Amino acid sequence: MSQPSLDWIDDELRELDSTGLRRRLATRTSAQWATITVDGSEFINFSSNDYLGLAGKCLNDAVIEAIKSCGWGSGASPLVTGRGSLHARLEAALAEFESTESALLFPSGFAANVGTITSLAGKGDVIFSDAKNHASIIDGCRLSGARTQIYPHGDIDYLRMMLPQAHAFRRRLIVTDGLFSMDGDLAPLCDLAALAEQFGAMLMVDEAHATGVFGDHGRGTVEHWGVEDGVHVRVGTLSKAAGSIGGFVAGTQTLIDWLANRARSYVFSTAPPAAIAAAGLAALQRIESEPHRRTELLTRADQLRHKLIALGCDVGESASQIVPIIIGDPQATMRHAASLRESGFFVPGIRPPTVPEGESLLRISLTYNHTDEMIRTLVEAIDRLLTVQ
Ligand SMILES: *Cc1c(COP(=O)(O)O)cnc(C)c1O
Repeated sequence: MSQPSLDWIDDELRELDSTGLRRRLATRTSAQWATITVDGSEFINFSSNDYLGLAGKCLNDAVIEAIKSCGWGSGASPLVTGRGSLHARLEAALAEFESTESALLFPSGFAANVGTITSLAGKGDVIFSDAKNHASIIDGCRLSGARTQIYPHGDIDYLRMMLPQAHAFRRRLIVTDGLFSMDGDLAPLCDLAALAEQFGAMLMVDEAHATGVFGDHGRGTVEHWGVEDGVHVRVGTLSKAAGSIGGFVAGTQTLIDWLANRARSYVFSTAPPAAIAAAGLAALQRIESEPHRRTELLTRADQLRHKLIALGCDVGESASQIVPIIIGDPQATMRHAASLRESGFFVPGIRPPTVPEGESLLRISLTYNHTDEMIRTLVEAIDRLLTVQ
């Protein structure tokens, strides 16, 4: 159907095509597992954030039970009647897991970041945000109305220089990913916590990729670095290592009470189905009782990085289960991703605007479900790819 008023979109899409930046939707027809079927072909799957291997089947029973007893839809916002006993139990379990006073369940990690940042900072305040923070943090900063100062990735010296001038603002918020989603590197949380304390700033850490993976108990990078007391606002997601969906914030009771009053993505969105809360509870149990999932995962990631470096790959500063191979040019990156698919490996190519210009990369994400054999054959395929080049 022709709609002339939307013709400009065709022009924009052609422009994306010509620069190799057009994205197309793929359809997966298998469960999210170590091997997947996408658009009719089977691949070994190095594209999922299901780091602990819980998404495929581990949570099914809990979900089915919950649907039988609670039904599916929650029918209302949490502040009205959408929040049921399973939601309350999950929030209590999240607080216990994180060792914080309280926790609040959001529909997604995206909603948690946007709702939290806009509740903590507004006009007259200043936010310091890492240049590589997730899109949901960026949007939260934009929406907040606060002055946002984007600091170069992980650059503590820059912050140390800028923070003294920030006293002119009413409040200060430093916000960072704990584990960066594309480069797989960790934020310098010890230094950030020290700076936050020195300059009276709030410190918020997004643990989306680290919850369940980092720290002795799986609490994320705050636990890994031992800075739990110095981080005032912890955001996590149940959609990655926890194998489900939903975001959460953990912190003091005061913080949670404030968010339940002010976070618009919480207040004005329907509560997730009770079965989602049941999945979260089941995932937390696995995270707590099966620490070998995270320790084995991180050991294998170390081994993979060493092998790739030996092949001459640039894996950047990766220190986690997310292992990038930095290529630079977006079209070359997509060509490599396509070659790997032809060899049976699904490794996504990541381009701007997800990463900065010139930093396009292949993003290998490891999960507990990968076998040593799968990883070995991937390394061989990458070796062939680089030799052909
Ligand atoms: C994925 C991600 C989110 C969003 O979480 P969802 O639960 O998928 O909405 C937020 N922050 C970071 C760093 C992420 O990688």
